Amino acid sequence: MHPFTYTKVSDTRGALDAGRRGGRYIAGGTTLVDLMRETVERPGTLVDISTLPLHEVTATERGGLRIGALVRMAEAAAHPKVRTLYPVISEALELSASPQLRNMATIGGNIMQRTRCTYFRDVTAACNKRDPGSGCAARDGFNRTHAILGTSESCVATHPSDAAVAFAALEASVRLLGPDGGRTVPFADFLLRPGSTPNNEQALRKGELITAVEIPAHARPLKSGYLKVRDRQSYEFALTSAAVALHIRGGVIREAKVAAGGVGTVPWKLTAVEQRLIGERPSKALWAEAAERAADGASPLQHNRFKVELLKRTVERQLRAVGGTK
Ligand code: SF4
Repeated sequence: MHPFTYTKVSDTRGALDAGRRGGRYIAGGTTLVDLMRETVERPGTLVDISTLPLHEVTATERGGLRIGALVRMAEAAAHPKVRTLYPVISEALELSASPQLRNMATIGGNIMQRTRCTYFRDVTAACNKRDPGSGCAARDGFNRTHAILGTSESCVATHPSDAAVAFAALEASVRLLGPDGGRTVPFADFLLRPGSTPNNEQALRKGELITAVEIPAHARPLKSGYLKVRDRQSYEFALTSAAVALHIRGGVIREAKVAAGGVGTVPWKLTAVEQRLIGERPSKALWAEAAERAADGASPLQHNRFKVELLKRTVERQLRAVGGTK
């Protein structure tokens, strides 16, 4: 591990001052400290923000939900409002990592976590995300777990967060605070596709701090859930996953919110699937037809072609689980 300085701040002003000077924010530390040990990350200054007042889950003025950036994953998953209004978020969180990690890691850190691409974590391998311009060892390497959607010549790594898939499905937004004030960024614009600069992963300005994730109000009742397919049933990242939320009234699907994980360089909103569902009556045939669109535009690599079919089946199964069948 490279030497670094550590400072703990007690208010947002102190945090922003330190962030403006190039300090790196840390809260739960469950990703960053690992990466520092492996010398993938080498921050000069860590700014501990864990005591800032960002630990609440509250209702928004517009009928949605605001989850503070420092709410622990386990706390968010168990919160009665999250559990009741958005089971898809609770389930995504509970299927993530391990109980120990969920007790430490925060919501803000969860969406900021970096890829699990093994070449990214191996400092001897070529990796444009870690070392811009060095190449991408995964493209011609072992790429079974890599992305099939949103890839570029420069990078094919997946985003690892499950909760981010639920947030993408629900069209959440990220509240940010920076030296120039606060702003809100739609979740779809917050995490960036790799393009030619895979080292740029979030739409964050220098020194900006995530203060919350906001879920907008959705039509009620909203049934939702998360399905994660992985190589083992515990402490493993998704090969594919599906976050589904449906508002069905009078036997007709009025709202459909669907996103996939484990397949995209960012959580992948399945707009074509949603469009196929809206205005239709739930049926086995509809779920299958809609899911057929889940992998539209996919560019599989040598070892991950199986994800195309697996993604369609994952989405179909979760549509059936949430929407029921006749
Ligand atoms: Fe690096 Fe991305 Fe290539 Fe993995 S896929 S080696 S993270 S550039």
